[in-house]
Amino acid sequence: MNRTDPAVRPRVVILGAGFGGLSAAAALANSPFDVTLVDQHNYHLFQPLLYQVATAGLSPADIASPIRAIMRDARNVNVILAKVSGIDPERREVRAEGRRIAFDRLIVAQASRAGLRLLTADHVLLDLRRDFILDASC
Ligand SMILES: Cc1cc2nc3c(=O)[nH]c(=O)nc-3n(C[C@H](O)[C@H](O)[C@H](O)COP(=O)(O)OP(=O)(O)OC[C@H]3O[C@@H](n4cnc5c(N)ncnc54)[C@H](O)[C@@H]3O)c2cc1C
Repeated sequence: MNRTDPAVRPRVVILGAGFGGLSAAAALANSPFDVTLVDQHNYHLFQPLLYQVATAGLSPADIASPIRAIMRDARNVNVILAKVSGIDPERREVRAEGRRIAFDRLIVAQASRAGLRLLTADHVLLDLRRDFILDASC
């Protein structure tokens, strides 16, 4: 099977490896899709325990887990460390630090601080259930 052929393995790009992005990646782990998970950090931050770090109850490393380690058993998930700056819905590309990451389905999970630019169109959010899960069941 040619993994790079989008007709054979649709490419799902997930922006953000927080709770939302990691949940999506876990749901798609070892599925018949090529998944790319993009985050500006190489770690997932467990925010609910931030206060314990602030009060010296935990060290920062206790609440920051490497994304690649979390996803290591997901053979179809590729993790990219890069800050996303824009989405081009017409070309179906994500721009991130000079990279152009092509997608067939896009999951935007960058919380509220994403600061993204839409490069060519006025809409981009692709509904996961409508556009992806239904396709996956075909
Ligand atoms: C101190 C604190 C305590 C909390 N306690 C609780 C709690 O007890 N219970 C609870 O349910 N919720 C709690 N929350 C809220 C919870 O953490 C958030 O609701 C949750 O993290 C949101 O998940 P998310 O995936 O939308 O975003 P995040 O978890 O914030 O993940 C977003 C990801 O996107 C990445 N990203 C953003 N912009 C870019 C970019 N341009 N390029 C590349 N990557 C990017 C970030 O690096 C991050 O990894 C707490 C939050 C805080 C701050």
